[in-house]
Amino acid sequence: MLSADFGHLERDVKMIERSQAEWLHIDVMDGVFVPNISFGFPVLKAITAATDKFMDVHLMIVEPEKYVERFAKAGADLVTFHLEATDKVQECIDLVRKSGAQVGISIKPATPVEAIEEWLPQLDLVLIMSVEPGFGGQSFIEGSTEKVAALRRMIDQKGLATLIEIDGGVSRHNARELYDAGCNALVAGSAVFQAPDPETEIVAMLEA
Ligand code: ZN
Repeated sequence: MLSADFGHLERDVKMIERSQAEWLHIDVMDGVFVPNISFGFPVLKAITAATDKFMDVHLMIVEPEKYVERFAKAGADLVTFHLEATDKVQECIDLVRKSGAQVGISIKPATPVEAIEEWLPQLDLVLIMSVEPGFGGQSFIEGSTEKVAALRRMIDQKGLATLIEIDGGVSRHNARELYDAGCNALVAGSAVFQAPDPETEIVAMLEA
């Protein structure tokens, strides 16, 4: 939703609602963990009220342990926080679980997948950032596909059901390669919202 038109937020949420996209991805930025500020609780509540889609909330905020419960209460079905944003990883996982939402951890481009290994058995999802978090419209960082493949091997070797999601520079041009590398969820912002027909673009990505 970061690439949506905030002046026509309901229209854009309704477009996603009608489309074949299964999840709605919300990038929450605090201006500290990343050099940008985006959504807060009132906007999240408004979006939740306008859709029945799965609410996938990506927290790019420091000390997420202070807010994860409030995001779950505001309608998040999945709360993903950044490994680099807290030294209280277990506390964050426990708080999200207690809230009833699914739990995910995201890693920035410079963080290796090995850093997430010890937490994998407790996670519903790992989100790999394929751009530096903070802004929409960036180009896909080469090497992110190999990171996905390495994480896929790690998850499969452990016999886990953890999903892999990728966020940043995703479009119909790399959707197939990312799916083949082991991604279960593709986040697309500008590729969808800047397309002449966003709903058709979503279908093109799903069929790529
Ligand atoms: Zn995101």
